Amino acid sequence: MKTVIGLEIHVQLLTETKAFCSCSANVFEKAPNTMICPVCTGQPGALPTVNKMMIEYAVRTALALNCEIHRFSRFDRKNYFYPDLPKGYQITQYFYPIATNGCLELDVGKERKKVRIRRLHIEEDAGKLMHEGDAITKAHHTLVDMNRCGVPLIEIVTEPDLTSPREARRFLEKLRSILRYLRVSSGDMEKGALRCDANISVVDEKGFSSNRVEVKNMNSFKFVEKALQFEQNRIIQALKSGSNVEKETRGWDLTSKTTVSMRGKEEESDYRYFPEPDIPPVVISDEYIEKIKESLPELPDQKKDRFTRDYGIPELDAEVLTSTRELADFYEECVKIKPKPKEISNWIMTELLREMKNSESEAVPISPRHLVELIELVEAGSVSIKMAKEMFPEIFATKKMPRQIVEERGLKQVNDKDVIEKIIKQAMEQNPKAVRQYRSGKKGVLGYFVGAVMKQTQGMANPQLVNEIARKLLEG
Ligand code: ADP
Ligand code: ZN
Ligand code: MG
Repeated sequence: MKTVIGLEIHVQLLTETKAFCSCSANVFEKAPNTMICPVCTGQPGALPTVNKMMIEYAVRTALALNCEIHRFSRFDRKNYFYPDLPKGYQITQYFYPIATNGCLELDVGKERKKVRIRRLHIEEDAGKLMHEGDAITKAHHTLVDMNRCGVPLIEIVTEPDLTSPREARRFLEKLRSILRYLRVSSGDMEKGALRCDANISVVDEKGFSSNRVEVKNMNSFKFVEKALQFEQNRIIQALKSGSNVEKETRGWDLTSKTTVSMRGKEEESDYRYFPEPDIPPVVISDEYIEKIKESLPELPDQKKDRFTRDYGIPELDAEVLTSTRELADFYEECVKIKPKPKEISNWIMTELLREMKNSESEAVPISPRHLVELIELVEAGSVSIKMAKEMFPEIFATKKMPRQIVEERGLKQVNDKDVIEKIIKQAMEQNPKAVRQYRSGKKGVLGYFVGAVMKQTQGMANPQLVNEIARKLLEG
């Protein structure tokens, strides 16, 4: 059995204004129906105008996805009735999309696999329906919030090149990383800024292909993977029993952790697409595309390759460090101040990322100076590695410089030979038996004396030095 998956992804663009009017595009959690105007609510006679930033963001993304950019593209009307679509049609690019024929590379095991992008086009979002149950009458009613009407989206359609639910998830994660690098979208699936419809079918050993099922309503990477796993199993079961699944659209249901049928798949002809008469075609020049190309940031794959090459760090490190632009920049600034690439990587991958695990933002909340100073304190023997790691959460939370914390907490490592010697001599006097045992060959007793020093210094003595001095005195 071979699994075949293709994705249709909607990406909300971070433009200031909506696609065809001057309303703010930042409508998330705003009071319902307060971010609207005659254009985005489709009042008679209102005329759309094209948002230039939206075109630029679409081109940026298309270039990063290795697409052919079309000098000529056009908007069309996709007609359908729905209460959250006051115009009765959605403005989209159906006949002439702005970009086609791209690809995104995925690292699958040792190989870099190409997932083909069929098309990338621009369209507007629809509003939102809110279904509410009335607590008193028990009647259910539905409210409509038009704020999201006209928010700019790009739709990205892949070829059916993905071969497992896991791969589909990896594709989406990679895509989000690129979108964030480009600063064209927040890519937050939980907030609906990145939405994915997944198409899946299974081909059996004899080459017979099942019907294709479309799955929607998955608002996290995890759910995309889970919903596809569920569908994959369901289709395989059907094929094994000699039947087939319906060609339909299904939704991921959070509570039952299954997919449920939503509707039969609509045919393209239902929509009666025709060219949008109120918007002129989008014509862009080679120079325009060239300028955008030059302004593209270094993307995750290029950065990862450069990190392994220039800093000599393992691929896994490079992959993690380049997962966001913020983290990669932080790493590079640290290395610039202190050329210890692997050591810095270790600190980031363990201590820093552990602290950042629950933060919403990708910004690194401490400065490169914080980390470098901590590493230098360890190098100078002022604090032990163990202490440095214990200090890290406080540095992270308070943004205090490591030196200051050392001073405040009186954390300085005890490197004073006289202090250590004195404690060991005391211990030797108090426990002559242990001294005799050591001298008669029971070397393990050394631990007792080291322990005594650690206890007195509250773990702050330099362990190497303690071992050295204890051995010398006991053998003395
Ligand atoms: P439709 O016309 O039904 O929208 P498309 O050809 O436009 O179908 O493809 C929609 C999505 O379905 C694309 O992402 C494509 O990769 C995917 N797809 C096409 N064929 C298959 C298949 N046999 N199995 C899984 N996904 C598929
Ligand atoms: Zn508007
Ligand atoms: Mg389609």
